Amino acid sequence: MPLPVLERAREELTSFRGSGMSIMEMSHRSDIFAEVLNEAEQRLRRLIGVPEEYRVLFMQGGATLHFSLVPMNLLRSGGRGDYVITGAWSEKAYKEAKKIGDVRTILSTKETDFTTVPGEAEISCGSDSDYLHYCSNETIGGVEFPYDLAATGVPVICDASSNILSKPIDINKYAMIYAGAQKNIGPSGVTVVIIRNDLIERINPGLPAVLDYRNFAENGSMPNTPNTWAIYLIAAVCEWLEGVGGIEAITELNRRKSELIYRAIDSSDGFYTGYAARAARSRMNVTFRLPDSTLDRQFCDEAHAEGLSGLRGHRTFGGVRASIYNAFPLEGVHTLVEFMQNFMMRNG
Ligand SMILES: *Cc1c(COP(=O)(O)O)cnc(C)c1O
Repeated sequence: MPLPVLERAREELTSFRGSGMSIMEMSHRSDIFAEVLNEAEQRLRRLIGVPEEYRVLFMQGGATLHFSLVPMNLLRSGGRGDYVITGAWSEKAYKEAKKIGDVRTILSTKETDFTTVPGEAEISCGSDSDYLHYCSNETIGGVEFPYDLAATGVPVICDASSNILSKPIDINKYAMIYAGAQKNIGPSGVTVVIIRNDLIERINPGLPAVLDYRNFAENGSMPNTPNTWAIYLIAAVCEWLEGVGGIEAITELNRRKSELIYRAIDSSDGFYTGYAARAARSRMNVTFRLPDSTLDRQFCDEAHAEGLSGLRGHRTFGGVRASIYNAFPLEGVHTLVEFMQNFMMRNG
């Protein structure tokens, strides 16, 4: 979370906009909350340029719930969903969908140990598929698509949890985008769903109320009580992002932040090895290894002692991972790069 947003939340915590009440204490049906919800939606729409014909929904259950909701809502009877698998998240999405209906993997980068993403021309799904699902940034391997995947005639659905709001996105290429808020949009507990109207039209009937995208669209994201506190913070994060220059400015900042670390890796004469293939390098999650796993561990422990926490790679994966989402400051990256150079001098 950006520090100015946390400070503002602290200020407004006990009395929201002079009301004498916390936003958490207000009815989600109150006029004040209706304004907050509308503000969150409008700011998000403005920031990433969401066209008229898409709805923006705020739901719960994390991105993980949508691994199930996508097939529940959108797989037609006898239909099929196609999956591109480039890492742990898209693999999880596929496995969850398999419990619901007929899905297949049309492309997997497993044979490169999830270090690559496919080129645009490599992806082809049958036009008879109900949708094509992919994940635009995989946090564990640290691979990111450098383009918006397009598929003619088939609705493209994207899990953009870990890079939404980090760079421009061409929404028109997608039928639906979903993202757990906790990386770039706000706190955990809300998932943003951007869905095109024609997709809402074809949602399967008879779904349980809180699992039904149409129900959320028809009831302004409030068929039941939403996470009001998190939605308030989403509005505040979006306002902060506009204030620092919007998507254009944050794209440039994210490019600088990630390039500083990648440069430190590439200029280390092999002491640090980047995990992802160059063309697939993520600007949100920079993954690398040291000459052996003992040094990986020592690196993370010593960094932690110097205030650089959270660098240990995912438990299934090892190595080192610097997650540098929108709110992570440039100064923090400078500190990390300096630490990397010092550590190499001491141990290289
Ligand atoms: C973090 C992340 C998730 C998990 O989100 P939850 O909100 O914890 O369910 C899913 N997909 C991607 C791409 C992520 O980065």
